[in-house]
Amino acid sequence: MLKKMSDVLISEGMDKQEAFSEAKYAITFVLQISVSMLYLQGDKQLSQQENQQLQYILQQRRNGEPLAYILGERYFMGIPFFVQPGVLIPRQETELLCEEVICKIKQENLQKVLDICTGSGCIGVSIAKFTNAKVCAADISPIAVAVAQKNANIHEVKIDIIQSDLFLNVQGKYDMITANPPYIDAQAYENLDRSVRDYEPALALQGGEDGLIFYRKIAEKASEYLNLRGYLVQEIGYDQADKVRNILLEAGFSNIQIKQDYAKLDRIVWAQWLG
Ligand code: GLN
Repeated sequence: MLKKMSDVLISEGMDKQEAFSEAKYAITFVLQISVSMLYLQGDKQLSQQENQQLQYILQQRRNGEPLAYILGERYFMGIPFFVQPGVLIPRQETELLCEEVICKIKQENLQKVLDICTGSGCIGVSIAKFTNAKVCAADISPIAVAVAQKNANIHEVKIDIIQSDLFLNVQGKYDMITANPPYIDAQAYENLDRSVRDYEPALALQGGEDGLIFYRKIAEKASEYLNLRGYLVQEIGYDQADKVRNILLEAGFSNIQIKQDYAKLDRIVWAQWLG
């Protein structure tokens, strides 16, 4: 069953490893079993309903729809997040940002965190779940606000979720601001994978002609919402580190640090507000 499904995906042009892991995820999702159970059961006979569900998933996947939207779920930081079209699907590289900020929040016992461009809420909800910080999450999109709220409920964390164009409706000061803003430049957007461009929200991906529009806007305003010594932690595109560093320096931030993701690509920029 696993092999059959991954073979179909491979024949559609999907990378071998990706096809295998997607097939595994789809089957365990439909059968409501763990991966080890799947291996133990081997070629279990599927019920007609299970079979239909898998066929449906396969069909949608062949049309290019991302698996996370078909299933309505994506694991992030080891916990399941509800996702639907209209919010960006949480990415693995963003987990690194979460791990780093969670570590810092615990080390320095930071109390208040603001997560802007929250989307599904994956960063804000993870912070609230794994630390004691009080989290406010904001997004311009009403769909994102609803989805982030749903994820906060699923994971039983209390966070303030507001609809806001960046800082527009944000109040108060924070010890840390996190953001995974849209950062794809106009040309790269045209070259994105079809399943990303056709299905994921442009609003969450497009960062203007040069991809940097939101880093400029955020850098310009962030200090008004940060306590002294507060941190601004942002995800960036692999080729944006120098430009984002300059934007932050020009806006008066200090201690700029660039961190790489698991693929050794520049991915996270830390900055501190020292007044
Ligand atoms: N990492 C995402 C992608 O490459 C982009 C996320 C973003 O724009 N914030 O599809």
